[in-house]
Amino acid sequence: MMQSEADSSCLHEAFSQFEDILQSFQRHDQPLLPRPTTLAHAESKLCGELPEHGTGIQAVTQHLLNDISPALNAGSLSPNYYGFVTGGLTTAARIGEGIVSLYDQNAAVHLPKETIATTVEHRALKLLLDLLRFDPDQWTGIFTTGATASNILGLALGRESVIDQAVEKRGGLKTVGEHGLLEACAAAELTSIDIYTTMPHSSISKAASVVGIGRLHVHDVAISTSDIRFDLKKLEYALSTGTGKSAAIVAISCGEVNTGVFATDGLDSMKALRQICDQYGAWLHADGDSMKEFEELSKGVQGLELADSITGDGHKMLNVPYDCGFFFSRSKTLAEHVFQNANASYLNTSDNAIPSPLNIGLENSRRFRGLPVYASLICYGKSGYRDMLIRQVTLARQIASFLNQHEAFELLPHQPHRSSQEMMNNVFMIVLFKAKNAGLNQELVSKINMTRKMYVSGTKWDGSPASRIAIANWQVDVQRDLKIVQDVLDSVARQ
Ligand SMILES: *Cc1c(COP(=O)(O)O)cnc(C)c1O
Repeated sequence: MMQSEADSSCLHEAFSQFEDILQSFQRHDQPLLPRPTTLAHAESKLCGELPEHGTGIQAVTQHLLNDISPALNAGSLSPNYYGFVTGGLTTAARIGEGIVSLYDQNAAVHLPKETIATTVEHRALKLLLDLLRFDPDQWTGIFTTGATASNILGLALGRESVIDQAVEKRGGLKTVGEHGLLEACAAAELTSIDIYTTMPHSSISKAASVVGIGRLHVHDVAISTSDIRFDLKKLEYALSTGTGKSAAIVAISCGEVNTGVFATDGLDSMKALRQICDQYGAWLHADGDSMKEFEELSKGVQGLELADSITGDGHKMLNVPYDCGFFFSRSKTLAEHVFQNANASYLNTSDNAIPSPLNIGLENSRRFRGLPVYASLICYGKSGYRDMLIRQVTLARQIASFLNQHEAFELLPHQPHRSSQEMMNNVFMIVLFKAKNAGLNQELVSKINMTRKMYVSGTKWDGSPASRIAIANWQVDVQRDLKIVQDVLDSVARQ
């Protein structure tokens, strides 16, 4: 396997086609989802057995460009893909990503005399804290593969902290990191670790399983199924009755997946949570990433700096490539207690200002995923990201308003006590709705997606199917996209 002239020309061909592919989606002359025939064709061309002798670079380039690429969907590339919360990819981030792939740098160990990589990531984290309006001196962070990985970090740090405290209270010396969960819990006479949260993202349960807490120990203490704020009385009762037997983590959902609403509504509710956590020695973790711009939205993220740890997703709101999440903690040392890659002295470096990522996160070898973040943040600045968020929220509210007045659709959650203005103010980037006609509602998602002009995700709300428009792409153009959405929904309603 040697670099040859053929390699160079194939690289060149591939890169020149990338530009065409991007433009075809921007001109809207490519459907958002591949057609069934394209998918079937691609599958029929997939290599089924590892060849003894490889196909060579020219054949594989054609295979990738002609068979596989057309069978991918435009999730990140199209501003009208509203599925899940997919985000997009800014041009600056794409250039950064190109360099990440080109150099294939391993950003595991801080080697400041050999590469700038970890220093760039460290700087990118600081810029990110600035964007989120957190004091950069108060937090240490790391780039992860996504919010799920960040939640695992948050619960792992929370677990370490609350159990170590409980062991200490009994005069013991055991820690989770060194002695393991079972020994440390026995020393602390704890029988469980419990997570109290409201309408958590599913990844909180996954993380609870991974870090040995258990999915059944994730408890929902919301006011009601339609009000995801904490029932503080319920929370306090649970924490007080658990004292001595159970260690607790409180996890805040910042941006519930179906509606985008927040579990806290201002500094006072964050202060109340902080105070309860301090009283009962609970760890306070915040799950979600949002920027403070709109009044109601900014209420939902006010006081987040009172949390002990925060999870965020780069590949969603920041519009940097998959996979990228971030994690911040107010403790400078706890992450090392959990994640330190001990006894590998060849990996230790002497610079203490910037920790080696492999000692504070899950991975050892890791992608240099901070570079696209760095590139995108400095390219667009605070005002660029603010403008993007404003366009997203504006489009979401206009779609919500259209749906609210439409005879065929119903905006969710159903809020009969609220004025339509209040309802609009509670829409951020996600619009949840259903068709009034039950038959149409059953098929609504597939009918919308079959148009291939826009894409929505299906979910369940109050026991019936619901559709969800999540707006998270930097390319949002309010007027253009509102018209596309209105046309699609009108046409589906007429069917
Ligand atoms: C998307 C999301 C997650 C999961 O993120 P991944 O990037 O898919 O791992 C977790 N929590 C919240 C609040 C989210 O919005």
